[in-house]
Amino acid sequence: MAAHKVICWDCGAEVNDLFVNTCPKCGGLLTVKMDLEKVKEMKPTDLHKTPIGVWRYAPFMPVDVEHKVSIQEGGTPLYTTTALGEAIGCKNTFVKFEGLNPTGSFKDRGMTIGVSHAKELGAKVVGCASTGNTSAALAAYAAKAGMKCAVFLPSGKVAMGKLAQALFFGAKVLSVDGNFDDALALARKMADERKLYLLNSINPYRPEGQKSVLFEIMDQLSYDVPDRIILPVGNAANIWAVYKACMELKEVGWIDKVPMLTGIQAAGSAPVARAFAAKNENFEPELNPETVATAIRIGNPVSGRKALKAIYSTGGYCTTVTDEEIISAQQLLGRKEGVCVEPASAASVAGLRKLIAEGIADKDERVVCICTGNGLKDPDTIINNCAPPIKVGNSVEEVEKVLSQ
Ligand SMILES: *Cc1c(COP(=O)(O)O)cnc(C)c1O
Repeated sequence: MAAHKVICWDCGAEVNDLFVNTCPKCGGLLTVKMDLEKVKEMKPTDLHKTPIGVWRYAPFMPVDVEHKVSIQEGGTPLYTTTALGEAIGCKNTFVKFEGLNPTGSFKDRGMTIGVSHAKELGAKVVGCASTGNTSAALAAYAAKAGMKCAVFLPSGKVAMGKLAQALFFGAKVLSVDGNFDDALALARKMADERKLYLLNSINPYRPEGQKSVLFEIMDQLSYDVPDRIILPVGNAANIWAVYKACMELKEVGWIDKVPMLTGIQAAGSAPVARAFAAKNENFEPELNPETVATAIRIGNPVSGRKALKAIYSTGGYCTTVTDEEIISAQQLLGRKEGVCVEPASAASVAGLRKLIAEGIADKDERVVCICTGNGLKDPDTIINNCAPPIKVGNSVEEVEKVLSQ
Protein backbone atom coordinates (compact mmCIF):
# COMPACT_ATOMS: atom_id res chain seq x y z
CA MET A 1 0.00 0.00 0.00
CA ALA A 2 1.18 3.47 -0.79
CA ALA A 3 1.22 5.72 2.26
CA HIS A 4 -1.67 8.15 2.33
CA LYS A 5 -3.79 10.43 4.46
CA VAL A 6 -7.48 11.21 4.39
CA ILE A 7 -7.94 14.96 4.49
CA CYS A 8 -10.78 17.43 4.20
CA TRP A 9 -10.93 18.87 0.69
CA ASP A 10 -12.43 22.07 2.09
CA CYS A 11 -10.49 22.89 5.28
CA GLY A 12 -7.46 20.61 4.92
CA ALA A 13 -7.89 18.93 8.32
CA GLU A 14 -6.56 15.38 8.56
CA VAL A 15 -9.31 12.86 9.31
CA ASN A 16 -8.46 9.80 11.40
CA ASP A 17 -11.93 8.27 11.88
CA LEU A 18 -12.17 6.25 8.68
CA PHE A 19 -15.87 5.51 9.13
CA VAL A 20 -16.94 9.13 8.53
CA ASN A 21 -17.74 10.43 5.05
CA THR A 22 -17.56 14.16 5.69
CA CYS A 23 -15.15 16.30 7.69
CA PRO A 24 -15.95 16.12 11.44
CA LYS A 25 -14.68 19.73 11.79
CA CYS A 26 -16.37 21.60 8.92
CA GLY A 27 -18.68 19.08 7.20
CA GLY A 28 -16.62 19.38 4.00
CA LEU A 29 -15.85 16.72 1.39
CA LEU A 30 -13.05 14.26 2.07
CA THR A 31 -10.26 13.22 -0.24
CA VAL A 32 -7.22 10.95 -0.14
CA LYS A 33 -3.76 12.48 -0.28
CA MET A 34 -1.33 9.90 -1.65
CA ASP A 35 2.33 9.87 -0.77
CA LEU A 36 3.91 9.22 -4.18
CA GLU A 37 7.59 9.72 -3.30
CA LYS A 38 8.47 6.09 -4.12
CA VAL A 39 6.59 6.18 -7.43
CA LYS A 40 8.70 9.13 -8.56
CA GLU A 41 11.62 6.69 -8.89
CA MET A 42 9.57 4.37 -11.12
CA LYS A 43 8.58 4.49 -14.77
CA PRO A 44 5.22 3.34 -16.23
CA THR A 45 6.63 0.10 -17.64
CA ASP A 46 7.77 -0.97 -14.15
CA LEU A 47 4.07 -1.73 -13.54
CA HIS A 48 3.68 -3.89 -16.63
CA LYS A 49 4.52 -7.14 -14.84
CA THR A 50 0.97 -6.98 -13.49
CA PRO A 51 -1.82 -7.38 -16.10
CA ILE A 52 -3.69 -4.21 -17.06
CA GLY A 53 -6.52 -3.48 -14.61
CA VAL A 54 -7.06 -1.57 -11.38
CA TRP A 55 -4.44 -3.44 -9.34
CA ARG A 56 -1.65 -2.80 -11.85
CA TYR A 57 -1.71 0.70 -10.36
CA ALA A 58 -1.42 -0.44 -6.73
CA PRO A 59 1.31 2.13 -5.97
CA PHE A 60 -1.35 4.81 -6.59
CA MET A 61 -3.96 3.04 -4.43
CA PRO A 62 -4.57 3.58 -0.71
CA VAL A 63 -5.29 -0.09 0.07
CA ASP A 64 -2.91 -2.93 0.78
CA VAL A 65 -2.99 -5.71 -1.85
CA GLU A 66 -3.14 -8.16 1.06
CA HIS A 67 -6.80 -7.10 1.57
CA LYS A 68 -7.63 -7.20 -2.13
CA VAL A 69 -11.22 -8.07 -3.06
CA SER A 70 -11.12 -8.34 -6.83
CA ILE A 71 -13.17 -9.77 -9.71
CA GLN A 72 -10.55 -8.70 -12.27
CA GLU A 73 -12.00 -5.26 -12.91
CA GLY A 74 -10.57 -2.75 -15.36
CA GLY A 75 -8.39 -3.64 -18.31
CA THR A 76 -11.18 -2.51 -20.62
CA PRO A 77 -10.56 -1.83 -24.32
CA LEU A 78 -9.71 1.56 -25.76
CA TYR A 79 -11.20 1.45 -29.24
CA THR A 80 -9.94 3.56 -32.12
CA THR A 81 -13.33 4.66 -33.43
CA THR A 82 -12.56 6.15 -36.82
CA ALA A 83 -15.99 5.52 -38.37
CA LEU A 84 -17.75 7.10 -35.41
CA GLY A 85 -15.28 9.97 -35.49
CA GLU A 86 -15.93 10.61 -39.18
CA ALA A 87 -19.68 10.60 -38.58
CA ILE A 88 -19.41 13.28 -35.91
CA GLY A 89 -16.61 15.29 -37.51
CA CYS A 90 -13.70 14.46 -35.19
CA LYS A 91 -11.60 11.74 -36.76
CA ASN A 92 -9.16 11.10 -33.90
CA THR A 93 -11.81 9.73 -31.58
CA PHE A 94 -11.30 6.89 -29.11
CA VAL A 95 -13.86 5.12 -26.95
CA LYS A 96 -12.87 3.66 -23.59
CA PHE A 97 -15.55 1.00 -23.12
CA GLU A 98 -16.21 0.57 -19.43
CA GLY A 99 -19.19 -1.70 -20.13
CA LEU A 100 -16.74 -4.63 -20.23
CA ASN A 101 -16.06 -4.52 -16.50
CA PRO A 102 -17.24 -7.55 -14.42
CA THR A 103 -20.65 -6.04 -13.58
CA GLY A 104 -20.78 -3.92 -16.73
CA SER A 105 -19.81 -0.44 -15.56
CA PHE A 106 -16.83 1.57 -14.30
CA LYS A 107 -18.26 1.35 -10.79
CA ASP A 108 -16.32 -1.90 -10.38
CA ARG A 109 -13.08 0.08 -10.37
CA GLY A 110 -14.19 2.03 -7.33
CA MET A 111 -15.73 -0.95 -5.60
CA THR A 112 -12.66 -3.16 -5.69
CA ILE A 113 -10.80 -0.47 -3.75
CA GLY A 114 -13.78 0.56 -1.60
CA VAL A 115 -14.68 -2.98 -0.54
CA SER A 116 -11.02 -3.93 -0.01
CA HIS A 117 -10.76 -0.91 2.29
CA ALA A 118 -13.97 -1.95 4.09
CA LYS A 119 -12.39 -5.37 4.63
CA GLU A 120 -9.25 -3.71 5.98
CA LEU A 121 -11.45 -1.80 8.46
CA GLY A 122 -13.26 -4.98 9.48
CA ALA A 123 -16.68 -3.78 8.27
CA LYS A 124 -19.36 -6.48 8.30
CA VAL A 125 -22.18 -4.60 6.55
CA VAL A 126 -21.75 -2.35 3.52
CA GLY A 127 -24.36 -0.23 1.79
CA CYS A 128 -25.02 2.41 -0.84
CA ALA A 129 -27.72 4.40 -2.54
CA SER A 130 -27.71 3.98 -6.27
CA THR A 131 -29.30 4.77 -9.60
CA GLY A 132 -28.43 1.13 -10.36
CA ASN A 133 -24.83 0.51 -11.32
CA THR A 134 -23.31 1.29 -7.93
CA SER A 135 -25.68 -1.22 -6.33
CA ALA A 136 -24.86 -3.88 -8.93
CA ALA A 137 -21.15 -3.40 -8.33
CA LEU A 138 -21.34 -3.23 -4.54
CA ALA A 139 -23.60 -6.30 -4.39
CA ALA A 140 -21.05 -8.29 -6.42
CA TYR A 141 -18.00 -7.20 -4.41
CA ALA A 142 -19.80 -7.69 -1.09
CA ALA A 143 -20.68 -11.22 -2.24
CA LYS A 144 -17.04 -11.86 -3.14
CA ALA A 145 -15.92 -10.49 0.26
CA GLY A 146 -18.59 -12.37 2.22
CA MET A 147 -20.13 -9.17 3.58
CA LYS A 148 -23.75 -8.27 4.11
CA CYS A 149 -24.96 -5.62 1.67
CA ALA A 150 -27.90 -3.19 1.66
CA VAL A 151 -28.70 -1.09 -1.39
CA PHE A 152 -31.12 1.85 -1.45
CA LEU A 153 -32.75 2.40 -4.83
CA PRO A 154 -35.19 5.11 -5.92
CA SER A 155 -38.53 3.39 -6.49
CA GLY A 156 -39.42 2.71 -10.10
CA LYS A 157 -36.55 4.39 -11.94
CA VAL A 158 -33.84 1.72 -12.02
CA ALA A 159 -32.92 0.02 -15.30
CA MET A 160 -33.92 -3.64 -15.35
CA GLY A 161 -30.46 -5.17 -15.81
CA LYS A 162 -29.07 -3.27 -12.82
CA LEU A 163 -31.93 -4.26 -10.52
CA ALA A 164 -31.55 -7.86 -11.66
CA GLN A 165 -27.85 -7.80 -10.76
CA ALA A 166 -28.36 -6.41 -7.25
CA LEU A 167 -31.02 -9.03 -6.53
CA PHE A 168 -28.94 -11.77 -8.11
CA PHE A 169 -25.83 -11.09 -6.03
CA GLY A 170 -27.88 -11.42 -2.84
CA ALA A 171 -28.01 -7.83 -1.59
CA LYS A 172 -30.90 -6.59 0.52
CA VAL A 173 -32.54 -4.41 -2.12
CA LEU A 174 -34.54 -1.56 -0.56
CA SER A 175 -36.86 0.48 -2.72
CA VAL A 176 -37.05 4.04 -1.35
CA ASP A 177 -40.02 6.27 -1.96
CA GLY A 178 -38.31 9.18 -3.74
CA ASN A 179 -35.47 9.87 -6.16
CA PHE A 180 -31.74 9.07 -5.93
CA ASP A 181 -31.03 12.09 -3.74
CA ASP A 182 -33.64 10.88 -1.22
CA ALA A 183 -32.22 7.34 -1.27
CA LEU A 184 -28.72 8.71 -0.60
CA ALA A 185 -29.94 10.83 2.32
CA LEU A 186 -31.36 7.69 3.95
CA ALA A 187 -28.22 5.62 3.31
CA ARG A 188 -26.09 8.41 4.80
CA LYS A 189 -28.28 8.47 7.91
CA MET A 190 -27.70 4.73 8.34
CA ALA A 191 -23.96 5.24 7.95
CA ASP A 192 -23.91 8.13 10.44
CA GLU A 193 -25.49 5.81 12.99
CA ARG A 194 -22.79 3.23 12.11
CA LYS A 195 -25.32 0.65 10.97
CA LEU A 196 -23.38 0.17 7.74
CA TYR A 197 -20.17 1.20 5.99
CA LEU A 198 -21.20 3.55 3.20
CA LEU A 199 -19.77 2.96 -0.27
CA ASN A 200 -21.25 5.82 -2.22
CA SER A 201 -18.72 7.97 -4.02
CA ILE A 202 -18.77 10.43 -1.11
CA ASN A 203 -16.55 7.74 0.41
CA PRO A 204 -13.05 9.01 -0.42
CA TYR A 205 -11.63 5.54 -1.20
CA ARG A 206 -13.93 4.73 -4.10
CA PRO A 207 -12.72 7.49 -6.46
CA GLU A 208 -9.18 6.22 -5.81
CA GLY A 209 -10.04 3.01 -7.68
CA GLN A 210 -11.75 5.02 -10.40
CA LYS A 211 -8.47 6.84 -11.08
CA SER A 212 -7.37 3.65 -12.84
CA VAL A 213 -9.43 4.41 -15.94
CA LEU A 214 -7.14 7.36 -16.64
CA PHE A 215 -3.99 5.34 -15.89
CA GLU A 216 -5.16 2.71 -18.39
CA ILE A 217 -5.97 5.26 -21.07
CA MET A 218 -2.44 6.67 -20.74
CA ASP A 219 -0.92 3.18 -20.88
CA GLN A 220 -3.03 2.33 -23.95
CA LEU A 221 -1.95 5.56 -25.69
CA SER A 222 1.70 5.00 -24.64
CA TYR A 223 1.55 8.18 -22.55
CA ASP A 224 0.84 10.33 -25.61
CA VAL A 225 -1.65 12.53 -23.70
CA PRO A 226 -4.95 13.10 -25.56
CA ASP A 227 -6.21 16.66 -25.97
CA ARG A 228 -9.56 16.01 -24.36
CA ILE A 229 -11.35 13.39 -22.28
CA ILE A 230 -15.15 13.48 -22.24
CA LEU A 231 -17.35 11.74 -19.72
CA PRO A 232 -20.91 11.83 -18.44
CA VAL A 233 -21.44 13.58 -15.10
CA GLY A 234 -24.03 12.42 -12.58
CA ASN A 235 -22.96 12.42 -8.96
CA ALA A 236 -19.70 13.81 -10.36
CA ALA A 237 -17.10 11.60 -8.67
CA ASN A 238 -15.75 10.01 -11.83
CA ILE A 239 -14.61 13.23 -13.48
CA TRP A 240 -12.98 14.14 -10.17
CA ALA A 241 -11.23 10.75 -10.06
CA VAL A 242 -9.92 11.24 -13.61
CA TYR A 243 -8.66 14.70 -12.66
CA LYS A 244 -6.97 13.40 -9.52
CA ALA A 245 -5.26 10.69 -11.59
CA CYS A 246 -3.98 13.32 -14.05
CA MET A 247 -2.56 15.38 -11.18
CA GLU A 248 -0.85 12.34 -9.67
CA LEU A 249 0.73 11.34 -13.00
CA LYS A 250 1.99 14.89 -13.34
CA GLU A 251 3.32 14.83 -9.81
CA VAL A 252 5.38 11.69 -10.49
CA GLY A 253 6.54 13.12 -13.81
CA TRP A 254 4.92 10.52 -16.10
CA ILE A 255 3.01 13.19 -18.07
CA ASP A 256 3.71 16.89 -18.53
CA LYS A 257 0.33 18.14 -19.74
CA VAL A 258 -3.24 17.22 -18.85
CA PRO A 259 -6.24 16.68 -21.12
CA MET A 260 -9.14 19.13 -21.11
CA LEU A 261 -11.65 17.35 -18.91
CA THR A 262 -15.11 17.75 -20.34
CA GLY A 263 -18.26 16.80 -18.47
CA ILE A 264 -21.60 16.12 -20.14
CA GLN A 265 -24.93 16.20 -18.33
CA ALA A 266 -28.44 15.40 -19.45
CA ALA A 267 -30.46 18.53 -20.18
CA GLY A 268 -33.08 17.57 -17.58
CA SER A 269 -30.50 16.97 -14.87
CA ALA A 270 -27.77 19.55 -15.25
CA PRO A 271 -26.75 21.37 -12.06
CA VAL A 272 -23.01 21.21 -12.88
CA ALA A 273 -23.44 22.37 -16.48
CA ARG A 274 -25.55 25.32 -15.33
CA ALA A 275 -22.92 26.30 -12.77
CA PHE A 276 -20.24 26.10 -15.47
CA ALA A 277 -22.26 28.29 -17.82
CA ALA A 278 -22.51 30.88 -15.03
CA LYS A 279 -18.76 30.47 -14.22
CA ASN A 280 -19.64 29.50 -10.64
CA GLU A 281 -17.62 27.25 -8.36
CA ASN A 282 -20.71 25.91 -6.67
CA PHE A 283 -24.02 24.68 -8.08
CA GLU A 284 -27.73 24.91 -7.32
CA PRO A 285 -29.38 21.48 -6.94
CA GLU A 286 -32.00 20.44 -9.47
CA LEU A 287 -35.11 19.39 -7.56
CA ASN A 288 -36.76 17.15 -10.15
CA PRO A 289 -34.06 15.66 -12.37
CA GLU A 290 -35.44 13.82 -15.40
CA THR A 291 -33.67 11.99 -18.20
CA VAL A 292 -33.68 8.69 -20.09
CA ALA A 293 -30.06 8.37 -18.91
CA THR A 294 -31.02 7.11 -15.45
CA ALA A 295 -27.39 6.68 -14.32
CA ILE A 296 -26.95 10.46 -14.42
CA ARG A 297 -30.41 11.38 -13.19
CA ILE A 298 -29.02 13.13 -10.11
CA GLY A 299 -30.06 16.61 -9.01
CA ASN A 300 -27.73 17.20 -6.08
CA PRO A 301 -24.34 15.77 -7.06
CA VAL A 302 -22.22 15.01 -4.03
CA SER A 303 -18.96 15.77 -5.84
CA GLY A 304 -20.34 18.64 -7.94
CA ARG A 305 -17.86 21.17 -6.54
CA LYS A 306 -14.96 18.80 -7.16
CA ALA A 307 -16.16 18.29 -10.73
CA LEU A 308 -16.19 22.03 -11.35
CA LYS A 309 -12.64 22.27 -9.99
CA ALA A 310 -11.55 19.45 -12.36
CA ILE A 311 -13.14 21.19 -15.34
CA TYR A 312 -11.89 24.72 -14.63
CA SER A 313 -8.33 23.75 -13.79
CA THR A 314 -7.81 21.69 -16.95
CA GLY A 315 -9.31 24.29 -19.29
CA GLY A 316 -12.13 21.82 -19.89
CA TYR A 317 -15.80 22.34 -20.56
CA CYS A 318 -19.25 21.29 -19.41
CA THR A 319 -22.49 21.23 -21.34
CA THR A 320 -25.77 19.37 -21.71
CA VAL A 321 -27.28 17.04 -24.27
CA THR A 322 -30.96 16.23 -24.76
CA ASP A 323 -32.42 12.75 -24.43
CA GLU A 324 -32.86 12.68 -28.23
CA GLU A 325 -29.16 13.48 -28.71
CA ILE A 326 -28.25 10.75 -26.22
CA ILE A 327 -30.31 8.09 -27.99
CA SER A 328 -29.02 9.16 -31.38
CA ALA A 329 -25.39 8.89 -30.19
CA GLN A 330 -26.10 5.53 -28.57
CA GLN A 331 -27.39 4.19 -31.88
CA LEU A 332 -24.50 5.68 -33.84
CA LEU A 333 -22.01 3.86 -31.60
CA GLY A 334 -23.85 0.62 -32.22
CA ARG A 335 -24.16 1.04 -35.95
CA LYS A 336 -20.69 2.44 -36.69
CA GLU A 337 -18.59 0.57 -34.13
CA GLY A 338 -20.54 -2.45 -32.88
CA VAL A 339 -20.43 -1.10 -29.33
CA CYS A 340 -23.53 -1.19 -27.13
CA VAL A 341 -23.53 1.33 -24.29
CA GLU A 342 -26.24 2.47 -21.90
CA PRO A 343 -27.81 5.91 -22.41
CA ALA A 344 -25.73 7.74 -19.76
CA SER A 345 -22.56 6.49 -21.45
CA ALA A 346 -23.70 7.74 -24.83
CA ALA A 347 -23.85 11.23 -23.36
CA SER A 348 -20.08 11.51 -23.81
CA VAL A 349 -20.33 10.82 -27.55
CA ALA A 350 -23.40 13.06 -27.89
CA GLY A 351 -21.41 15.73 -26.09
CA LEU A 352 -18.46 15.47 -28.46
CA ARG A 353 -20.79 15.71 -31.43
CA LYS A 354 -22.29 18.90 -29.99
CA LEU A 355 -18.89 20.40 -29.12
CA ILE A 356 -17.69 19.85 -32.68
CA ALA A 357 -20.90 21.23 -34.19
CA GLU A 358 -20.65 24.35 -32.01
CA GLY A 359 -16.93 24.81 -32.71
CA ILE A 360 -15.95 24.41 -29.06
CA ALA A 361 -13.84 21.33 -29.78
CA ASP A 362 -11.54 21.33 -32.80
CA LYS A 363 -11.97 18.62 -35.44
CA ASP A 364 -8.26 17.75 -35.20
CA GLU A 365 -8.26 17.12 -31.46
CA ARG A 366 -7.45 13.65 -30.14
CA VAL A 367 -10.44 12.87 -27.96
CA VAL A 368 -11.22 9.98 -25.64
CA CYS A 369 -14.90 9.45 -24.84
CA ILE A 370 -15.38 7.36 -21.72
CA CYS A 371 -18.42 5.14 -22.21
CA THR A 372 -19.26 4.24 -18.67
CA GLY A 373 -21.67 1.30 -18.83
CA ASN A 374 -23.00 -1.58 -20.91
CA GLY A 375 -26.13 -1.20 -23.04
CA LEU A 376 -27.50 -4.54 -21.84
CA LYS A 377 -28.09 -2.91 -18.45
CA ASP A 378 -31.08 -1.12 -19.93
CA PRO A 379 -32.63 -3.22 -22.70
CA ASP A 380 -35.98 -1.44 -22.41
CA THR A 381 -34.57 1.84 -23.69
CA ILE A 382 -32.91 0.07 -26.62
CA ILE A 383 -36.04 -1.81 -27.62
CA ASN A 384 -38.22 1.30 -27.28
CA ASN A 385 -35.97 3.13 -29.72
CA CYS A 386 -35.47 0.43 -32.35
CA ALA A 387 -37.89 -0.74 -35.02
CA PRO A 388 -39.58 -3.99 -33.90
CA PRO A 389 -38.70 -7.39 -35.41
CA ILE A 390 -40.15 -7.89 -38.89
CA LYS A 391 -42.81 -10.59 -39.17
CA VAL A 392 -42.28 -12.88 -42.16
CA GLY A 393 -44.01 -15.97 -43.43
CA ASN A 394 -42.05 -19.16 -43.84
CA SER A 395 -40.95 -18.39 -47.43
CA VAL A 396 -37.73 -17.38 -49.23
CA GLU A 397 -39.62 -14.87 -51.39
CA GLU A 398 -40.98 -12.99 -48.40
CA VAL A 399 -37.57 -12.82 -46.75
CA GLU A 400 -35.98 -11.64 -50.00
CA LYS A 401 -38.59 -8.92 -50.27
CA VAL A 402 -37.80 -7.67 -46.78
CA LEU A 403 -34.03 -7.76 -47.35
CA SER A 404 -34.27 -5.80 -50.58
CA GLN A 405 -36.09 -2.92 -48.89
C1 LIG B 1 -22.38 6.22 -12.15
C2 LIG B 1 -22.49 6.38 -13.60
C3 LIG B 1 -22.27 7.61 -14.23
C4 LIG B 1 -22.01 8.87 -13.48
O1 LIG B 1 -20.79 8.89 -12.78
P1 LIG B 1 -20.59 9.95 -11.62
O2 LIG B 1 -19.32 9.58 -10.99
O3 LIG B 1 -21.76 9.78 -10.70
O4 LIG B 1 -20.59 11.29 -12.26
C5 LIG B 1 -22.31 7.66 -15.60
N1 LIG B 1 -22.58 6.56 -16.33
C6 LIG B 1 -22.81 5.36 -15.77
C7 LIG B 1 -23.12 4.19 -16.63
C8 LIG B 1 -22.77 5.23 -14.39
O5 LIG B 1 -23.01 4.04 -13.84
